[in-house]
Amino acid sequence: MSKQVIIIGGGIIGLTTACYCLRAGHQVTLVERGSPDHDCCARGNAGMIVPSHFVPLAAPGMVAYGLRMMANPRSPFHIKPRLDWRLADWGMNFVRAATAGHVEAAGPLMRDLSLASRALLIDLNREKGFSFGLRQNGLLMLCRTESALLEESETAERANALGIPAEALSIDETAALDPAVNMDIAGSVYFPQDCHLDPARLLAAMTDFIREHGGNFLWNRDVTAWRLRNGRINGAVSKAGEIEGDEYILAGGAYSPQLATQLDLHLPMQAGKGYSLTLPKPPQLPKICSILTEARVAVTPIGKDLRFGGTMEIAGLDKAVNPARVDGIIDSARRYFPAFQDTDFSGLKTWSGLRPCSPDGLPYIGRTHQAKNLIIATGHAMLGLSLAPITGKIVSDLVENKEHRFPSPLLSPDRYQGF
Ligand SMILES: Cc1cc2nc3c(=O)[nH]c(=O)nc-3n(C[C@H](O)[C@H](O)[C@H](O)COP(=O)(O)OP(=O)(O)OC[C@H]3O[C@@H](n4cnc5c(N)ncnc54)[C@H](O)[C@@H]3O)c2cc1C
Repeated sequence: MSKQVIIIGGGIIGLTTACYCLRAGHQVTLVERGSPDHDCCARGNAGMIVPSHFVPLAAPGMVAYGLRMMANPRSPFHIKPRLDWRLADWGMNFVRAATAGHVEAAGPLMRDLSLASRALLIDLNREKGFSFGLRQNGLLMLCRTESALLEESETAERANALGIPAEALSIDETAALDPAVNMDIAGSVYFPQDCHLDPARLLAAMTDFIREHGGNFLWNRDVTAWRLRNGRINGAVSKAGEIEGDEYILAGGAYSPQLATQLDLHLPMQAGKGYSLTLPKPPQLPKICSILTEARVAVTPIGKDLRFGGTMEIAGLDKAVNPARVDGIIDSARRYFPAFQDTDFSGLKTWSGLRPCSPDGLPYIGRTHQAKNLIIATGHAMLGLSLAPITGKIVSDLVENKEHRFPSPLLSPDRYQGF
């Protein structure tokens, strides 16, 4: 039965969800507070599809790492201290989740979600109209220190145990894989199944698909409240009027808690601000995307451009750029890639985006007990692009009341109710 589906949020999760719901034969209205050319968290992101990232952000050692980084103004991780109960609540839940048990429980789920999402993306890339520069040539975790290489090699072993191929490489083996770029490293770990793409082209392709398949966009519409009756949502309220449908999808990224709270849904979330710099004329262009492991910087060839992305600043819903942390990204780039100079980065505009981060590092995908016809699809943190296709597919299955492949309580939007 065809339903009228109202999706709130025009980022990568909302757009992908719209595509899969249209494919399933539903009528879709996508409501976005920005204009048609609005920025969203995927637009300037690193464009990586990463089954390699099966360890959630909340992992043992992360709390100590975060505390060590606090004093360094150029560090890739920072929490801006402030008196805010939501931050305190998020922090407590993060500490609670950062255990070996959580990582072990999350690993198989993250693997399955990532691989299913990657397969959907590869299928999409074969379709007419979906050209977004997908390159299926893996990812290198580049390490400058022996200790980081050892740690990454251990992660590679855990990946292999989960069925995700990964291989530790020497300096020469790494250079042979990507000879176009000089690297000052101790070695690397190679994840052959990872991919990269041009996120702006993917967003554009999805927008076109939605338009061509009869989806309706409501731009410049800020949903501020719900109209509820007998435990069901009857309307999404905006200044320009109410939007009525059968099913509502909340895909508002880091802004989602504002609407969740109105339903007494406890959806702990912090915005994790990140930056990227895109070099139109890099002195060298790697063909494989990489992560500068110790610096936590992602490096992605996007067509002829080269993008460096990094930092995770928990500083509220503020997209202002902190120049010291951008300098930290540039310093790291030059340390790993000696052919790059400061001048290669001069005059570049820094892009910033807010990752929607749940405290346990896992997304919220599913129905909630707080409203019968509401589905939550957010909290993907560093993996929103990687997990967008599978999220869209799960949501469209839920709209049809179909069984989906991932009914895990680890994804439940209600998992913090009562905490
Ligand atoms: C530097 C950086 C690099 C990254 N690299 C990668 C990567 O390589 N691979 C990867 O998988 N992920 C990556 N990510 C993460 C990824 O970009 C995010 O997880 C993803 O974009 C989040 O998408 P979203 O749709 O949930 O949120 P958003 O993009 O924030 O979209 C939410 C939308 O909802 C709208 N909205 C919110 N509330 C309302 C409302 N009440 N009414 C109307 N509209 C509303 C907002 O305006 C916004 O457009 C990166 C992120 C950053 C910052």
